[in-house]
Amino acid sequence: MGSTRFADGSNFHIVLFPFMSKGHTIPLLHFAKILLRRSAAVTFVTTPANRPFITHSLADTAATIATLPFLSSPDIPASIESTDKLPSMSLFFQFALSTSSMQAPFEQLLQTLPRVSFMVTDAFLWWTLHSANKFSIPRFAHFGMSCYSVSLHLEARIQGILSGAQPENELNTLTRFPWIKLSKEDFDADLRKQNPNTPEHHFFANFSPTIPQSYGILVNSFYELEPTFVDHVNTHYSPKSWCVGPFCFAETTSSRKVDDSVKPNWMMWLDKRGREKRGVVYVAFGSQAEISREQVEEIAIGLEESRVCFLWVIRKEEWGLAEGFEERVKERGVVVREWVDQREILRHESVEGFVSHCGWNSVLESVCCGVPIVAWPMMAEQFLNARMVEEELGVGLRVERGDGFVKREEVRKKVRELMEGEKGTRVREKVRELADEARKAVEEGGSSWCTLNALLHHTRQYC
Ligand code: UDP
Ligand code: UDP
Repeated sequence: MGSTRFADGSNFHIVLFPFMSKGHTIPLLHFAKILLRRSAAVTFVTTPANRPFITHSLADTAATIATLPFLSSPDIPASIESTDKLPSMSLFFQFALSTSSMQAPFEQLLQTLPRVSFMVTDAFLWWTLHSANKFSIPRFAHFGMSCYSVSLHLEARIQGILSGAQPENELNTLTRFPWIKLSKEDFDADLRKQNPNTPEHHFFANFSPTIPQSYGILVNSFYELEPTFVDHVNTHYSPKSWCVGPFCFAETTSSRKVDDSVKPNWMMWLDKRGREKRGVVYVAFGSQAEISREQVEEIAIGLEESRVCFLWVIRKEEWGLAEGFEERVKERGVVVREWVDQREILRHESVEGFVSHCGWNSVLESVCCGVPIVAWPMMAEQFLNARMVEEELGVGLRVERGDGFVKREEVRKKVRELMEGEKGTRVREKVRELADEARKAVEEGGSSWCTLNALLHHTRQYC
């Protein structure tokens, strides 16, 4: 690698364009800050409805924000510009296909911008590759997944585990990773379906060829977390996967002391638990998961019976919790119904466990904060992430999902095991070690630091 010195990005102008959802936008907002710190100029592309969140996050930075109109398909209400706001996730692929309505305005924008050194666009915005090619700009696809999930997906496909003939829950050993056994159930139903003429079929037909044709893949991960799988994708597939994360460390500067009068109630509640030296389990399932009313009620009973302190973020007002629940548990638990700063919660001294849907950002944020996980996957590649959390990284315990519904006894058992049991102690030690490694990776001279240096050197000719 030669020098590990600060790679000056001062001649660089980088276009960042996330897919329209919080889980895809937040990591690129963090990456923008990392690039700005290396003196690069950044243009961040979004749509009008997503702009306020982005403007808020990039306030006090030198990033430029560009807005493109988004024309959704007839099935999607016109005002919806983020998958977080879809009435149902069954519209996800229609929404993703609609993003190509932005191709012409995106190309008009590229014409007006100062020379672009490279662009990082979400892998789901497949059509940005065609725009990049027209302007001879290198395109990095931002893959919001681990190399572990990508490797397992690709291997499962090669071994025919995803094929129609394969029974749903039969465990298969992966030839290349003989310690891993998985079944079709480890994959989202949309990936298993092969039905032609469905939106998901059209989407994958567009998307799949654009990954190998891109200049590189930007991965929010770090080498030490998953060396076998980073090596695997880089040995067997091109283009190169560049692991330059975890991006969430870009925000750690907020060790600022916040005045109690501006703190949200739930933060004061956490502070109080901290003073009492009581451990709290944080319960949250990200910005997309759809959870039934019955399941919410079952979680409530499980948490109450666990007798563990908890902070639970639920997304929708209409999710009625049984009357009297919040009053009954108020000394031990708090329910929050607003957008929270998840990283702030995970960093809090009293938070010692996370019941998580295992979105990749949540897994990484938990690892970076040294908080062990009760893994409760719900969709997309979260089933693989949950496997990784328990089996590969040893930083958490998976819930038994049965036919998809998790019973109160299981919630109670896993939460207690994590917070008070022997297994909990083991995974807590492991996650703290990994948190140290994660921090080292992004520090000067660390693996992600050096990989970003190499990426900048590699693309310098396009400045
Ligand atoms: N998040 C947050 N506050 C919330 C809910 C989510 O800050 O109230 C953040 C969380 O920290 C993470 C992202 O939103 O960075 C969610 O991404 P993830 O991959 O975990 O799950 P998704 O929402 O995409 O399913
Ligand atoms: N791919 C890759 N590196 C990655 C992810 C994907 O090289 O990190 C390539 C791989 O060759 C795959 C293609 O991108 O065939 C499309 O990926 P996808 O997940 O859509 O798989 P597929 O549609 O082939 O099942």
